Amino acid sequence: MTDPTADAPSRDLPVPERALVVVAHPDDAEFQAGATLAKWARQGCEVHHLVLTNGSKGTWDRTVDQEWLIQTRKDEQRAAATLLGGTGVVFLGHTDGELDASRAVRAQVCAVIRRLRPTVVLGHDPWKRYRLHPDHRAAGQLCVDGIVAARDPFFHPEQLIDGVTPHRPDALLLFEPDEVNHHEVVEEADLDAKLAALEAHTTQMETTHFYKVGEGDPLELFRARQRQRLTDAGSVIGVPLAEPYHLIVDQL
Ligand SMILES: [Zn+2]
Repeated sequence: MTDPTADAPSRDLPVPERALVVVAHPDDAEFQAGATLAKWARQGCEVHHLVLTNGSKGTWDRTVDQEWLIQTRKDEQRAAATLLGGTGVVFLGHTDGELDASRAVRAQVCAVIRRLRPTVVLGHDPWKRYRLHPDHRAAGQLCVDGIVAARDPFFHPEQLIDGVTPHRPDALLLFEPDEVNHHEVVEEADLDAKLAALEAHTTQMETTHFYKVGEGDPLELFRARQRQRLTDAGSVIGVPLAEPYHLIVDQL
C-alpha cells in the first residue's frame, strides 16, 4: 500500500483488527470519525479512544462546577464510545485549552500505542491550515509524534518492560484534513450510530452541536448538518455517504 494522491484518492482501508483514535476532547472522535469507527466495530474491529484533555472548558456557563463537568464529560465519552461499538476509552486528563505537544505527553501517547497495538491510528491533522483551536493542533502533533516514538526501541526505553515492545501501525488517518486523499465509505446505520454517539455528549449541545445551526429545531438542523457533511464527502467519490481523511502509510 502506498500513500494515495489527491488526484487519485483511495477508499476503504481493510477493516483493521484494532483502531485507536487520538483526540483532544471528548466528542472530537465522534464528529470527525464516528461513522468510520461504527463501521469498523460492526465488522469486528476493536476500537479504542484516547482523549488527551479533560474537557474542563467546554461550557459557556461561568457558574458550572468544573469538576462536575470533567466527570460528566467522561461519562458522556464512555457512552458515546459504546454507542459506536467501541472497546474502551483512555483519558489522559490534561487541562482543556492548555495541551502542549511536549515530550512528556508524547511519551504518554507512545505508551498507549505500545500497549494497545493499533493496526490503524486516527488523529487530528496537525498541518491543517488556519486551524484555531490550540488543543487540536497539539493533539495532532502528539498523535504523529507518538506514532514515531512507539515504533523504535530507543524512544522512551523505560516503557519497554513487562512484555511491552515497540509497535508500528499499518496506517494513519488524519481527520478534518488539510488535503483529502482518502475516504471511508459508510452506511446509513453508521451515520445513525455517529449521531447517537454525538448526542450522548449532552453537555456540548449548546456550545458545539447547536452552534450556528440557524433558525428552526436545533436538533433536526444539527442532524441535517452532520448528514450533509457525509453526503458532501461521498459526492466526491460517487457514493451516498463517506468520511474524508488524509491517509499516510509510506512513512510508517
Ligand atoms: Zn475538540
